[in-house]
Amino acid sequence: METPTRKILYFESKLSTVEEMKLDELDLRLIYLLMDNARLSISEIAERLGVSRPTVKARLEKLEKEGVIQGYTVKLNPNLLRAHNVIAMIIKTDYPEKLQEFEEIIEINRFTSKKYLIKVAIENMEELRRVIEEAGFEVLEIMPILESIERKASPKVKVPFKCDYCGKEIVGEPIVYKYRNRIYFFCCPTCLREFKKARENLEKFKLSKKKQEINHTHNGKNYLHN
Ligand SMILES: [Zn+2]
Repeated sequence: METPTRKILYFESKLSTVEEMKLDELDLRLIYLLMDNARLSISEIAERLGVSRPTVKARLEKLEKEGVIQGYTVKLNPNLLRAHNVIAMIIKTDYPEKLQEFEEIIEINRFTSKKYLIKVAIENMEELRRVIEEAGFEVLEIMPILESIERKASPKVKVPFKCDYCGKEIVGEPIVYKYRNRIYFFCCPTCLREFKKARENLEKFKLSKKKQEINHTHNGKNYLHN
């Protein structure tokens, strides 16, 4: 049986480091591309971002060195992970470091110095009882998780970001859209819609132009034949 990926989250410490990280628009575009597909080659990334390969390479090295990109992971079929029963618990413990010793504990979120929300993946109630006893925490609340809906977390950083349609600065999270191997950012759904419309019109225009050209040569041939 596959072991679920371990996700240890410490919100307090995470927030302070994010603020220290300085990212610019190109960094963010790169991150969004890799979040979508971490296996892109440097040339593919360069093409999609419209920058040179050495630029991409330097940026990647910088982001890795600064710990912004901490690794490139494998995304497993969620069914593999959900073969277990997953249970969320609000617990109180004096020994939080002990939680990390248990493979069954797949997520640890800290509220206060003693209070945690944890997720435990177990096969049966017997296993759950063993984890609770051995880890020695007090269960304040227990909730079975019926369904997990995975949502992509976007990097939380403030970067002066320009909308690829209207050119205005994007406040908050950009709408990310992939089109013809390129990645675009929009400030609002309207800009995305207008962008798509403009692209469609452009495609239609190109198509009709092609048809005209074909007709022209066709007519030309007919003319020659006659
Ligand atoms: Zn816009």
